[in-house]
Amino acid sequence: MSASAGDADTIRGTHASQSCSGGEAEGVEAAEGGGGGRVGSDGVGGIREGMAGGVETWRRLMQSALLFDVDGEKKPLVYSEEYNVRLFGVEKLHPFDSVKWSRIVHFLIHDGHIQPHQVVEPRAATNDDLLLVHSQEYLNSLRSSFNLAIIGELPPLALFPNFVLQHRVVRPFRYQVGGSVMAAKLAMERGAAVNVGGGLHHCSRHRGMGFCALADISAVVTFARAFLGVKRVLIVDLDAHQGNGHETDLMGDVDVFIVDVYNAGIFPQDHEAKAAIRIAKELRSGTGTRHYLDVVAQALQEVSASVFRADLLVYNAGTDILANDPLGRLAVSAEGVQQRDEMVFQFAKDHSLPIVMLTSGGYQPNNARIVADSLANLSAKHLLPLQVPPAPY
Ligand SMILES: [Zn+2]
Repeated sequence: MSASAGDADTIRGTHASQSCSGGEAEGVEAAEGGGGGRVGSDGVGGIREGMAGGVETWRRLMQSALLFDVDGEKKPLVYSEEYNVRLFGVEKLHPFDSVKWSRIVHFLIHDGHIQPHQVVEPRAATNDDLLLVHSQEYLNSLRSSFNLAIIGELPPLALFPNFVLQHRVVRPFRYQVGGSVMAAKLAMERGAAVNVGGGLHHCSRHRGMGFCALADISAVVTFARAFLGVKRVLIVDLDAHQGNGHETDLMGDVDVFIVDVYNAGIFPQDHEAKAAIRIAKELRSGTGTRHYLDVVAQALQEVSASVFRADLLVYNAGTDILANDPLGRLAVSAEGVQQRDEMVFQFAKDHSLPIVMLTSGGYQPNNARIVADSLANLSAKHLLPLQVPPAPY
C-alpha cells in the first residue's frame, strides 16, 4: 500500500460526523486481485486506477462501521474481551501471554484508573474493512489452518478445523484492527488514546507473520486519512522488532514518516522493508535501559529537527524490550518502559500532535502489569486523559 494525500475536499458519507479530506492521493489498492482502484484521503478524488475498483473502495469506506461516536463519559481507552486468544489451552504452548490485553484492563480497573463502563468497546473489522488494506488473495490464505499455524508460529494450529481458528484466532485480530482504528479517532478528538491491543506490525497487505495476521497500522493510516482529516502520519515503532509490515505497506509514501528503534539481531531482519524507515536506530541484544532511552531520545530529537509535520502520531509501544524477553533480547527495566512511554507522549504533547498508542509485542507474564502501570503514569502526568484516582487520606 502506498497511501498519500493532500489538502482538499470534504465529502460526507454515511458517517454523519466524519469527513473525508485529502488531495492528490495515491492510495490503497482495494480491489480483489490487486488490480483495482485506489483511494487516498480525498476519497473519490484519489481514484486513479480503474473506476470500478475505486467505486468499490469508496463503497467499502462508506459502509464501514468501524468508526462511531462515543459519549463524553467514555475514556480514550479501547478494548474488547474479544481481543484475547483462547484456544482450548493450546495457546499455552506458545511463549506468549495470549490474554495480556484482558489483564491490562483488569489492572487499570482494579487500581481505579478507569471504570468498566468508561472503556470504549470497538467493533470487529469486516471483510470489506480488511479489503481496504489487504488483498482478497491474502484474506483467502487465512482460510488455511496451515497458513495460520505459520503466521501464529504455533504448529499445532494446523491441526484445527479452519472455522475454529477463524473464531478463536482471526476474530480477535479483527477486533484489534477495529480497536486501533477507533483509538485513532479518539486520539484526534481527545489528543491521546490507547488501543489496549493492536500493533500487529509484522503484517502487510500481502503477508502475515510473527503472530500478526492483520495489518492494523496500515488500517489506521487508511481510515485516518479517509475519515479523520489526517494527511501526514508519524509512526514511532519502539517494539523490539523491526516493524516490517507497515514499512512494506507504506514504502515510498512521502506523507508517512517512520521511526523504528529495534534489535537488529533478531526477527524479521527485513532488509527490503528497512528502505521505508526515515530514522532507524539499530540496537544490539542486551542493550540496557540507559542506552536504550538515550537512543529513543535521540530519535525523537531527530524527528523534531526534521521538516516533517505530522497530523497524527501512531506509537507502536511494544514491551518486548523488557529484560528477559525471550524474543526481544533487550534488557530494559520496567521503569525504563514507563520513561520511554512518557517521553513519547511528552513529545506528542510538546508538538500538539494527537497520539494513538498500540500495545504491540511483549507477552511475558509481567508485561500486563508493566503496561498498566505505564498507562497509569501517563494519566497521572496528564498525558493521557484517564481518571486519576483520588489520593489516599
Ligand atoms: Zn516485537
